[in-house]
Amino acid sequence: MSIKCKKCGKLFDYSVGGDIYPGGKEKEDIDCPYCGENNGYVMTSGFVNSYKLDEKESEKMDKLEFLIQK
Ligand SMILES: [Zn+2]
Repeated sequence: MSIKCKKCGKLFDYSVGGDIYPGGKEKEDIDCPYCGENNGYVMTSGFVNSYKLDEKESEKMDKLEFLIQK
């Protein structure tokens, strides 16, 4: 699910990683990768990794181009 930053208005997404175990969950901030603004939090025992959505899209395009050239 993509998030629109409340401060700069850019789209980004996040994933939760690390060791997931029952209990020991804490609030992990979801920070905007563009401007660093906090955009809420998730409850997890791992960590939150936020990334820029437009960069991910361009990455997909590169892979697509590679497949076409092949
Ligand atoms: Zn932002």
